[in-house]
Amino acid sequence: MNIILLGPPGAGKGTQARFLVEERGMVQLSTGDMLRAAKESGTEMGQIVADVMDRGGLVTDEIVIGLIREQLETVKANGFIFDGFPRTLAQADALADLLAEKGESLDAVIELEVNDEVLVDRIVGRAAEAAAAGQSVRADDNAESMKVRLMEYYKKTSPLIGYYYAKGQLTKVDGLGEIADVKAAIAKVLDS
Ligand code: ADP
Repeated sequence: MNIILLGPPGAGKGTQARFLVEERGMVQLSTGDMLRAAKESGTEMGQIVADVMDRGGLVTDEIVIGLIREQLETVKANGFIFDGFPRTLAQADALADLLAEKGESLDAVIELEVNDEVLVDRIVGRAAEAAAAGQSVRADDNAESMKVRLMEYYKKTSPLIGYYYAKGQLTKVDGLGEIADVKAAIAKVLDS
């Protein structure tokens, strides 16, 4: 089973993806994690994407599609969870092609519905918690980058909601509830 978790920054995609990995043996493909790893390891690609990411902008389709292609070609999994990918219609088309090449398809797109106030609070809270615990704070977890990230989401990513709805693949889940309730709602979609 291959699924996409769709939703704005701070919606809880990563949190829910981790449950699916632990309990269903699926593999999480987070382009955000891959890009942060590239940034930290100082590769050429990491240097190219660092500025854009820190400011909250989107990295080019070419780069992220390349990262996903590499994973799909090498990783064997009992289903993939796409987290933070696709973020543009071009990426959505590329994903459909990549899955088709493997003889696979997309089984569900789960949209985590939240509201902007909660998002900004969650992200700013996440940064404050990390700082208080002496952990590193994501360079883009600040109010300024968050504004750009939200704008990018509405401009470039939210059209995917209509796109997958039209294909009959979209299910909306309330992302404002308790983590366990969101988890249960997702399980219901996947097991139906
Ligand atoms: P969040 O969902 O919390 O904003 P992610 O960890 O998914 O964070 O992504 C962090 C950053 O990485 C994004 O703001 C963007 O700069 C870059 N990025 C991640 N995935 C993509 C993608 N599919 N296309 C373009 N840029 C991406």
